[in-house]
Formats: sequence, C-alpha cells, structure tokens
Amino acid sequence: MNTARIPAILIINSGSSSIKFAVFDDANLSELVKGQIDGIGSHASFKVKSPDQRIQETITWPKELAPQDHNAALKVILEWLHHALSNVHILAVGHRVVHGSAKYLEPVMINDAVIHELESFYALAPLHEPHNIAGIKAAREVFGDIPQIACFDTAFHRSQSFINDTYALPRTFYEEGVRRYGFHGLSYEYINSYVQQYLPAYFGKKTVVAHLGNGASLCAIERGHAVATTMGFSPLDGIPMGSRSGQVDPGVLLYLMQYKQWDAQRISDLLYKESGLKGISGGLSNDMRTLEASNTFEAKEAINYFAQHVQQEILSLAAVMKGLEVLIFTGGIGENSVFIRGQVIQELQWVGIELDTAANDSGAEILSNISSKVVCLRIATNEELMIAKHTHNLSTALPSESLDTKTR
Ligand code: ADP
Repeated sequence: MNTARIPAILIINSGSSSIKFAVFDDANLSELVKGQIDGIGSHASFKVKSPDQRIQETITWPKELAPQDHNAALKVILEWLHHALSNVHILAVGHRVVHGSAKYLEPVMINDAVIHELESFYALAPLHEPHNIAGIKAAREVFGDIPQIACFDTAFHRSQSFINDTYALPRTFYEEGVRRYGFHGLSYEYINSYVQQYLPAYFGKKTVVAHLGNGASLCAIERGHAVATTMGFSPLDGIPMGSRSGQVDPGVLLYLMQYKQWDAQRISDLLYKESGLKGISGGLSNDMRTLEASNTFEAKEAINYFAQHVQQEILSLAAVMKGLEVLIFTGGIGENSVFIRGQVIQELQWVGIELDTAANDSGAEILSNISSKVVCLRIATNEELMIAKHTHNLSTALPSESLDTKTR
C-alpha cells in the first residue's frame, strides 16, 4: 500500500495556543496543504487549504470536544491528514524553533539530547520556546521514530561579527548569552536563497531585507551572509511592530519599576501586547490594513512612525555594510502594502533610491526605477518551504547517528 503513496514532509510551527502546519511533497517540495489549529485549550478551530483551493475546510468544536493541548491538537491534524490526504505518507517532520542560542548554526536532527538542550534555552525565549518544544514532544509521541528536524529562527544570524552581536555591557554578559541573536532567520535565509536561485545578478550584493509583518525586523546581508539585524536578545528590539514596542530607552523600564512599581509581567505585557502600531494608534489596531483604512490622526501617526523607523534602520544597516545595493521588502506588510513600500522608498529618494510607482502599484518584483542607485525588490517569503528544504536535506542525506550539529 505504502508504495503508491506520496512521500511527504510535515512542517510544524507550534505556538502558545496554535499549531500551524504544512505538508510538502518530498519529491519536488511542492506544497500540498497548509493549515492551523488555533485556540488550543479554549475555543479551538481548525482551518486548512491547498494552494489550488481544491481542499478547503474549517472545523470548530464545542468547548468540551475541542483539543485541549498540543498532543490532542496534533492528533486532530494527523487524523485529518489521514482521511483527506490518504495518499500521503509522512517521511519526516520539520519544526520551527525560535531559539537555537549561540550553539545551533544550522538545523539539527532531534534526539533526546537536543530536546534537553533546547529546554535549557527557555530563559532566552520564554514566550515561544516552551511551545515549540511542546510541539516537538507531541510529534515524537505521535510519529515515533521518523526523523524530526529543528530549524532555528536565530541560526542565519550567527555569522554576525562580535561588534554586531553584542551590547555594550560588560563582556561577561556576552559570555553568559546576553547577545543580539536576531530572529526571522528562516525568512531571511529563504529570501537569500531565492535571490541566489532566481535573481543571481543581485546575489551577494550589499543587501537589506525588510521583513515587515506583525513581527518585523530588518537584516543586512553581504556576500550572502547575515551581517547585522535589528532584533536583538529578544524579538522586542528594533522597529515598532504590530503590538511590540521595538527599541525603547531602557531608562523607561527603570522608571516603570522604580517609580510605578511595575513587575516583570506587567512590563512584558506592555512591551509585547500593548505597544507598537497598536499603542501609537491609541489602541485602534495592531493590523496595518485596519490602520490604512482608518482616518484617525492616531492611525496616520502610527503608520508614519512605522515607516520612518523602517527608513532609519535601512540606512543604519547600510552604514554597517558601508553601502547599499539591494533593498528587499517581504512579510505581510512588505509584500502587500503598496502604501508602506511607496512611502519608505520615496522618503529615501534623497539618497538616490527611486521608486517606480507603477511597479509598486502592481506589486511587481522590481520596484525601483532603472536609474535608482539601489535596486528595490518585493519577494514573498516562505519560511515553511525553507524548513521543508532543510528537513528533506537532513532526513535523506545522513544517517541519524552522524547528525551531530555543527557548533561554534
Ligand atoms: P506574522 O508576523 O504574524 O507572520 P504577517 O507576515 O502575516 O505577520 O503580516 C501581518 C501584517 O501584514 C498585518 O499587519 C497585516 O495588516 C499586514 N497586511 C497584510 N495584507 C496587507 C495589505 N494588503 N495591506 C497592508 N497590510 C497588509
């Protein structure tokens, strides 16, 4: 029976109350379906669709029947796959893991020792890592012995030099792990490999990639390697995001602690959930589409604040590389917001970056004029495909015993 089935790779991105998943054909890495279960532990719902829209399904459950934890949610996904994609045979599972600390420079085959080590990184990413590991454990329980691969959001940035990797704190903090790890690495790696494969004339140039989504960061890439990035020790640093603050003077936090007696939880909620676009728009929304559709003064200021910080960071990263040849927009806002791309590029006209308005309006791949000193591109990211590629390569290339990760 198995011989007639399509060998496939399952990708899992496990969050606090959701599991996102995607299934790729192992032979050509084409996407078969993508979906997610949200609201695990409360009012869970399940959504799935195929790229050709032939499969589209939404399931909601009454609370008492809904999956209550990651294990139960994963079982629901597998049962659905078993029935709806009965011709598919899962060969390997790839997991998105937010933090690989300074140790993991590349994806790694998961075993007990790796899980143990990833658990020791909880302090580095308390809001994400435990949920990623819960997804891994649930998948191991369900799938038994098939290869499972961890792919890290931090790994791509590990080529940063010490100067771009450290804060100006005493060196002992760097040694204990207080570093600028950076995130969105799987997205940057995908964009880098896309340019290498499909736009080779621009590969290896002094490049800034702006990953602008609900979470947002920028990364400088030179000769195909990450040089510097705006996110740091945590995914709070850098530009303002949907509801995250981005960079804030640490003095503000001291003020909140010393004079307002705010505890860590309250400060965390402020910085992660109440700030960024949501905070500046007066609580209106963390969603760029809502802000663009709004006429309020606060919504306009939130948009302008966001665009200006993107511009600032583009030039700051250009300064690190001592030049800028290619600027790439990606992420939900970078790929879809004509307005933000247009505003950012037009405000950089004074440094010789020139917008092709018609190209921007139509969402073309090349957004800049022929006379622009910097080539501006719009490329859709695909983190799941990047994980599928790593999972395919690691699970087929090497026997599991020899897959000891490369470490620094
Ligand atoms: P995440 O960080 O959750 O992966 P996404 O990359 O999906 O986020 O980006 C979500 C953001 O993209 C939201 O702010 C959303 O409003 C914005 N976005 C999506 N489509 C558009 C659009 N057509 N115009 C403006 N913003 C958009």
